[in-house]
Amino acid sequence: MQKISSLTLVLSDQCNFSCPYCPQRRGEKTLTAGDVTTFMDFLQPRLSEEVWLGFYGGEPLLSWPLIQGTVDHACRSFRKRFRFTLTTNGSLLKKEYILFFKKHRFDLALSYDGLAQKYRDAGSITMVEAALKKLLRYYPEGYAIHSVFTPKTVPLLAASMAELLCQGHARLQYAVDACVPWKKADLAILAKQLERLTTICVRHREKTGKTPLKNLNDTAGKGIFACSAGRDRLALLPDRTVWGCYLFYDLLGHSRQSPDYTKYCYGELEGFMAGFKGGFPAVTANYADLRQDYFFSEKKKLCGLCADLERCAVCPVVAALATGTLAVIPAWTCQLKKIARRVHGKPAAAVSSPGRQWA
Ligand code: SF4
Ligand code: SF4
Repeated sequence: MQKISSLTLVLSDQCNFSCPYCPQRRGEKTLTAGDVTTFMDFLQPRLSEEVWLGFYGGEPLLSWPLIQGTVDHACRSFRKRFRFTLTTNGSLLKKEYILFFKKHRFDLALSYDGLAQKYRDAGSITMVEAALKKLLRYYPEGYAIHSVFTPKTVPLLAASMAELLCQGHARLQYAVDACVPWKKADLAILAKQLERLTTICVRHREKTGKTPLKNLNDTAGKGIFACSAGRDRLALLPDRTVWGCYLFYDLLGHSRQSPDYTKYCYGELEGFMAGFKGGFPAVTANYADLRQDYFFSEKKKLCGLCADLERCAVCPVVAALATGTLAVIPAWTCQLKKIARRVHGKPAAAVSSPGRQWA
């Protein structure tokens, strides 16, 4: 079995925001310290020497003591090199938390949509901007800003990124919400916005020598993209179930009667551990079929026959959030990928980094 190099802990399904594009269901479920240590200790012999440990929610900062306790446990009880990551909406970020993240060299993903934040949660702007100022002051090297644009907010994409750059933020990443339909007119606006954004970034690089936009640095891996869920990563969800990647829970976690639930869920924590030798390889084998060349477009065209196959990487769950079927890809996603490839002059990014991805 391949060693596990990435663990995601979805600490709770509670959030103080309700972003219009978020596919998660809100609830009251929360992991306990016992759940987390049981999961980590069981996996200890199966972990690679370097492990990405990601904290996710809902809003993970609502579970602050659990974050502190988990980091303490990882540092004291494991002889592994942990790389901590945390994805937050920023609204609860205090100086004390930032200093803790700095001490433990967290890689933070702060979700903020720039000028489009007013369409996401207008009341949050002051709080999140205050958090961004604190990050810039106390831990400038430790965070990236992730901004999501929808067909409604895409006209604000380039100006939002430009403003964040002007404010001094060093690492930016945009994503588009591929779960909703993109019409021809929306796609044309996106293409223009990305052209403007690329020009802004090229000028910035000429002035500073730095490329602030992660999308421009990304390259799809050589060969055919495959979802890495279950292969080298696992996630523990707030209802104590284990999945190959936390995104599967958003798609299937509330449909226990669905055949796909049984196919992709490793079961609740105790069942996962008890069945590790039997059930685990069988479920992992199901994940192994999630490869780009096995995916279909909605028009039943096999991606394996597409000229862009090796330059394309689509998350099968994000596609399924739009089409309802795993690994069936909506037509607008092909267009979104084509535009990104053409404008950035590079292959569209493989969806492999920790944190939510949208296209
Ligand atoms: S492709 Fe999607 S489902 Fe697979 S590991 Fe990446 S984010 Fe998770
Ligand atoms: S462009 Fe569309 S059809 Fe071609 S590989 Fe990508 S998702 Fe599949």
